[in-house]
Amino acid sequence: MTYLLNSADDFADEAVRGLVAAHPDLLSEVPGGVARSTQTPQGQPALVIGGGSGHYPAFAGWVGPGMGHGAPCGNIFSSPSASEVYSVVRNAENGGGVILGFGNYAGDVLHFGLAAEKLRHEGIDVRIVTVSDDIASNGPDNHRDRRGVAGDLPVFKIAGAAIEAGADLDEAERVAWKANDATRSFGVAFDGCTLPGADEPLFHIEKGQMGVGLGIHGEPGVRDTGIGTAAEIADLLFDDLMAEEPPRGENGYDGRVAVILNGLGTVKYEELFVVYGRIAERLQEKGLTAVRPEVGEFVTSLDMAGLSLTLVFLDDELERLWLAPVDTPAFRRGAMPDVERPARTEIWDAAEAEIPDSSEDSRACAQTIVAVLETFQNVCADNEAELGRLDAVAGDGDHGQGMAYGSRGAAEAARAAVDQGAGARTTLLLAGQAWADSAGGTSGALWGAALTSAGGLFTDTDGAGEQNVVDAVNAGIDAVLRLGGAQLGDKTMVDAAVPFRDALVDAFDADAGPAIATAARVAREAADKTADITARLGRARVLGEKSKGTPDPGALSFSMLMAALGEQLTR
Ligand code: ADP
Ligand code: MG
Repeated sequence: MTYLLNSADDFADEAVRGLVAAHPDLLSEVPGGVARSTQTPQGQPALVIGGGSGHYPAFAGWVGPGMGHGAPCGNIFSSPSASEVYSVVRNAENGGGVILGFGNYAGDVLHFGLAAEKLRHEGIDVRIVTVSDDIASNGPDNHRDRRGVAGDLPVFKIAGAAIEAGADLDEAERVAWKANDATRSFGVAFDGCTLPGADEPLFHIEKGQMGVGLGIHGEPGVRDTGIGTAAEIADLLFDDLMAEEPPRGENGYDGRVAVILNGLGTVKYEELFVVYGRIAERLQEKGLTAVRPEVGEFVTSLDMAGLSLTLVFLDDELERLWLAPVDTPAFRRGAMPDVERPARTEIWDAAEAEIPDSSEDSRACAQTIVAVLETFQNVCADNEAELGRLDAVAGDGDHGQGMAYGSRGAAEAARAAVDQGAGARTTLLLAGQAWADSAGGTSGALWGAALTSAGGLFTDTDGAGEQNVVDAVNAGIDAVLRLGGAQLGDKTMVDAAVPFRDALVDAFDADAGPAIATAARVAREAADKTADITARLGRARVLGEKSKGTPDPGALSFSMLMAALGEQLTR
C-alpha cells in the first residue's frame, strides 16, 4: 500500500524529480529519465540502464561514477518508451558508444531495441545486454532467456566498473555478459504489491503460504508452498541456486561468490539479517567465500513482501570489478579516484532538436512518405473495429486502436517534419518514433521499428529510386523479425511479412509500386491462412487455443497496409 502521493498518474515522474533534487551532485533530470550531472569523458562508453519504475534503487539510484551513465525511467512496472531511452542515451553518450542494460522482459526488449535501431542509424554503436538471472523463469540450458531480477545490481556494477577502469565498448560488453552468465537469483514472496492509487494488491498469497519464484512486476510465484522458518527459506533459496554452481577449479572459479540478499519492499532489515545468518553458515559449510556480501534493498517491487538471493560465481576479473569503488545515490563503495568531473553543461531535448538540411529531391520523396502514411491512417481508421474484434478473440482487443493511434501519430509527425523542411530520412525516423509512442503495445513498437529502419535506407540529400523503396520495405521487415523474434508459424505479423518479402523479390523488376501490390496479395492470403494456426507468442499465447479459426490481426493489418502502399506508389 502506498500511503503518500499527489496523483497516481504523476507518481513515477514526481519520484524521479525528488530523487534528482536530493542528489544534484550525481544526477540531472533529462527528458525521459536521469543522466549523470557530470559530463561523460569523450570516448568513454556509456552504460544506460533501465526498466520501469517501482524498483528503486534500480535503476535511477545506480547512476553515477563507477556504474550507470543514465537511466530512462518508465512508468510503474512498464518499460520506458523508445523515445525516453533514446533521449537519455543522447544525454549520456559521448562518442564511445553505449551499452543498453535492462532485465530480459518483452516490453523492455522491444522499446530499448527500437531506440537502438534509431541510434545505430545515427552512427552510434549500441550494444544490448539483457540481464537474465532468475532461475525460476527458465532452465539452466536457456540461461540467457530467463527474466532479470536482482542480478541487475552485480551485472551493472561490474560493467560500470570496467568502463570506469578504461574498458572500450567491446570490452565492457564482454564483461557485462560474463557477469550475467555468472549470476543466478531466486526469490520468494509472502504477499503482493499495490500500484500507487490502487485499492487492492496485484495478487494475494494465502496467509501462511509463500509464492516461490516470484517476479518483480507483481508476477506471483511459479508455485505456492507453506512459509517455513527463516532458516528453511534460506536453505530453499541457497540449495536451488547452488544446483547451478559451476565446477570449481575451472575457468578461474574457485568458490568465491558475490552474495546479494535483496528485500523486495516490506521485509525488514532485521529479518533479512536473520536469513543471511543462515546463508553465511551454508556458504561456510560448502567451502564458499562470500565476497563483500550485500544485504538490503536493491531491486524492489513497490511494497511486495518478499526477498531474493543472488549469487555471482566470481573469477579474479569479476571479483576486482565487483569490489571497485562506485558512487551513486543508492550504491556506494570505496573512494572514487580523484579525477576531474566537469559539470554537465547541456541537456539534449527532442523538442529543440533541429531538422537536418535537405535537398529538393529528398523533400519531394518526403512528400510521398507523408501521402503514404496518411493513406495508412485512413486504412487503419476504416478497419479499427474489425482489427479490434479479431484481437479480442485471443488477445486484449486493442490492435485496431493501436494501429489507428500509431498510424495517425506517424502521419502527423511526418507532416510536421515536412513542413519544417525535413528530407525523406528524417521524416521516416520521426514518423517511426511517433508511431511507437502513439500506439503503445507490441505491434506499435514493431511498426515504429519498421519505419525507423526503412528511414535508414534513405538520405536527406538525395532522391530515392525504385530500388531504394524496395530495400527500405525489406529493411522494415527485417527490423520486425530482429526485434520481435517471432518465427514463421507463431501466428504473428511475421506470417504475412515473410511471404510478402519473398513475393516482392520475385515480382520486382523496375517499378516498386506494382511489385508491392502483387506481394500484398500474397500477404493477404497468408494472413487469412493464419486462422488455421494456434497462437504461441505475445499476449495471444495464453489463450492460444481460442485463436484457432480467427486470423492473426497483426498479419491482417500488415497485408492491408502493404496493399495500400502498393496502390499509392503505383498512382
Ligand atoms: P499487444 O499484443 O501488445 O496487445 P497489438 O494488439 O497492437 O499489441 O498487436 C498484436 C499483434 O502484434 C499480433 O496480432 C501479432 O501480429 C503482432 N505481434 C505480437 N508479438 C509479435 C512478435 N514477437 N513479432 C511480430 N509480431 C508480433
Ligand atoms: Mg492487443
